[in-house]
Amino acid sequence: MLTTLRQIVENVTSAPSLADAMLTLVKQIRGAMHVDCCSVYLSEAQRQRYRLVASDGLSLDAVGKATLPFNEGLVGLVGRKEELINLANAPSHPSFKYLPEVGEDEFKTFLGVPIMHQRNVLGVLVVQQTLSRQFNELDESFLVTLAAQLAVRIAHAELKGLISAPSNTHRIIHGVGVSNGMAIANAWVWQPQMELSQVNLKHSAEPELQLELLNQAVLQVQMDLDSLAMRFQDAVKVDSQSIFDIYQHLLSDPNFIYQIEQEIVEQKWNASSAVRQVSERLIAQFSQMNDPYLRERALDIRDVAQRLLSALAHNHMDQFDFSTPVILLAEEVTATLLAEVPKEYLAGVVSIRGAVNSHAAILARTLGVPAVMGLELPLTELDGQQLIIDGSNGDVIIQPGAAVLAEYEQLILQAKAFDELVAEEAALPSQTEDGCSVSVLLNAGLSLDVDSALMDVSDGVGLYRTEIPFMLHDSFPSEQEQASRYKTILSQYSGRQVCMRTLDIGGDKPLPYFPIIEENPFLGWRGIRITLDHPELFLAQLKAMLRASESYDNLAIMLPMISSVNEVQSAKRLLDQAWMEISEELKVKGSSIRYPNLGVMIEVPAAIYMLPDIAPLVDFWSVGTNDLTQYLLAVDRNNARVAEMYDGLHPAVLRALQQIIQMADEYAKPVSVCGELAGDPVGVLILLAMGYRRFSMNLNSIAKIKYLLRRVNVKDLQPLLADTMKSTDSSPIRQVFTSYLERRGLQSFIRKKTESN
Ligand code: PEP
Ligand code: MG
Repeated sequence: MLTTLRQIVENVTSAPSLADAMLTLVKQIRGAMHVDCCSVYLSEAQRQRYRLVASDGLSLDAVGKATLPFNEGLVGLVGRKEELINLANAPSHPSFKYLPEVGEDEFKTFLGVPIMHQRNVLGVLVVQQTLSRQFNELDESFLVTLAAQLAVRIAHAELKGLISAPSNTHRIIHGVGVSNGMAIANAWVWQPQMELSQVNLKHSAEPELQLELLNQAVLQVQMDLDSLAMRFQDAVKVDSQSIFDIYQHLLSDPNFIYQIEQEIVEQKWNASSAVRQVSERLIAQFSQMNDPYLRERALDIRDVAQRLLSALAHNHMDQFDFSTPVILLAEEVTATLLAEVPKEYLAGVVSIRGAVNSHAAILARTLGVPAVMGLELPLTELDGQQLIIDGSNGDVIIQPGAAVLAEYEQLILQAKAFDELVAEEAALPSQTEDGCSVSVLLNAGLSLDVDSALMDVSDGVGLYRTEIPFMLHDSFPSEQEQASRYKTILSQYSGRQVCMRTLDIGGDKPLPYFPIIEENPFLGWRGIRITLDHPELFLAQLKAMLRASESYDNLAIMLPMISSVNEVQSAKRLLDQAWMEISEELKVKGSSIRYPNLGVMIEVPAAIYMLPDIAPLVDFWSVGTNDLTQYLLAVDRNNARVAEMYDGLHPAVLRALQQIIQMADEYAKPVSVCGELAGDPVGVLILLAMGYRRFSMNLNSIAKIKYLLRRVNVKDLQPLLADTMKSTDSSPIRQVFTSYLERRGLQSFIRKKTESN
């Protein structure tokens, strides 16, 4: 059954059109389930009815013609209840409706499942049988699984229809706007390499690295196959000699992987080229075999090889060659991918996966590049097409007409004028209208090339993320290399504090040369957990920071992902050791360094409760609202599917923030906020009203937030906060502060709501 299911899924996915896919589906389901009839009804929402669009068993004359109102018949009931209906004697059910034109009077047994996509009923998939029969659990899960596959195919076809519609119609797709601003440019689709034939054969002078990349790709594919196998088992509850077992065997077959390794070591091919060479050789051998079973194995080899290439391509990306700015489109735009794109050619970003506080989204904001994430798009169809993206409301407009283009060109000019207005005041002191002094600090490090002219307008660096240089390297950067990078920023900020965070890899920041394969990476080996397990890496980084601080007196060090006192103590011991060693070294030269201020990030909820014990060990703390929100609400910050639930203004988050500042007051420790909430116009007002005075944000927000702060009064904000803290929902909270901004003539700061088509 599992193999049959997989075959049907593959056939549905590869059918050239939706009509073909549905026809294939009904025929194959009829055969596989041994039923007399299988049909698909699609919803016509505007006319409140279903239309019979494919059938194997009902009268062919009725296909495409017969319709059924939403509120009638068993099909209608499946749609209304949004759940499957399984009846051994359908004609006796009160909702049964006899439709003479479809010729279904002879059928007794009925099993219907809704075809659901994003909470919408797209249609109903039905099987029927002449004789009375009770469909069992296996039949049900088989049909449910196929209905889910069909839903994806239908949703795609609808989008395609939208894209290929005549150009005088309005074609807008809505996603989540994650980085404000608008862009007009052609789409450039990045897809990880998948086809064997697409691999450009290349040699590599670093076989060790290539072996490591291969090893990492094998682990990745093994894990993907495991979770795929688990999903299929759940769905079908049958485990015969599954296709996944065959794949797993291949991945551990010395004849396959060993040969690839040989190609890397002996022929000096890079990993992708070696996969291609070996796979093509084996495919050719298997394809010529007489035994049909063995001939089939050629397909398995191709599939596994392409999965390996895909995993390898995620790690190495060398396909960019632009000549004009483009809007980058991809299934998943990662921070690494973004960091590698030449900025002068990046007009905008669209990512099917990802959400507002994924690192790629934060980086897009840092770069001031509009970005939309969490939407459905048939990527290949869009390659080269003209797009408008609006990062403030999440709209992607495909092949816009002249009028829409003119409107957006005008809006882009207005936005530019606003940016210029704001920039004029960027160098003025950071303070509110009623004279309350605040520190507006920079979150640096995500982008390698920041505009140093703009750096001057911040009061220091509140968060220096150290991961990106590690991510773009082929191996751990040496202590010297790190020291010279850190020295650059410490010297640029001479006289102002630079808070460097120790390595926070893991989660959505993997290193290509240090594989961490986990089911649940955000709850796994991440941040301080890794560096404490690898003191050699941690010490090298600490020493690099300390060495860089010689002759500057502005280094602070911050520890990410702290959840226990023990971690702070262990880290402090290593910092003591690093400081002693560097101090000894410098003493010989007659120089010295100050012991840096040490702080922790408050981003794991446990740390809030441990603050009374952590406080005596540290000099300051900084709230990482990006992770704090994800961990408090149990909502993955990267997952588009739950993007609506990821809410930095959730009352639970605000209560936690209030508790953190109260403890900062009680223990007399400086506190800042370095998560994205600090650069959000409404977020910063709430934090200000709570008593926070240090805000660290991406480069692109600094001038805007300073402009905003200079036009608001803490005295006005405090009573607004007192009222809203009683709220159990974030909407009224947002509303209260948005209205305040409007009253103050600051509506340009408010994100536009997504409008419907
Ligand atoms: C945070 O979690 O809020 C934070 C600032 O760190 P990062 O976004 O790098 O995880
Ligand atoms: Mg964090």
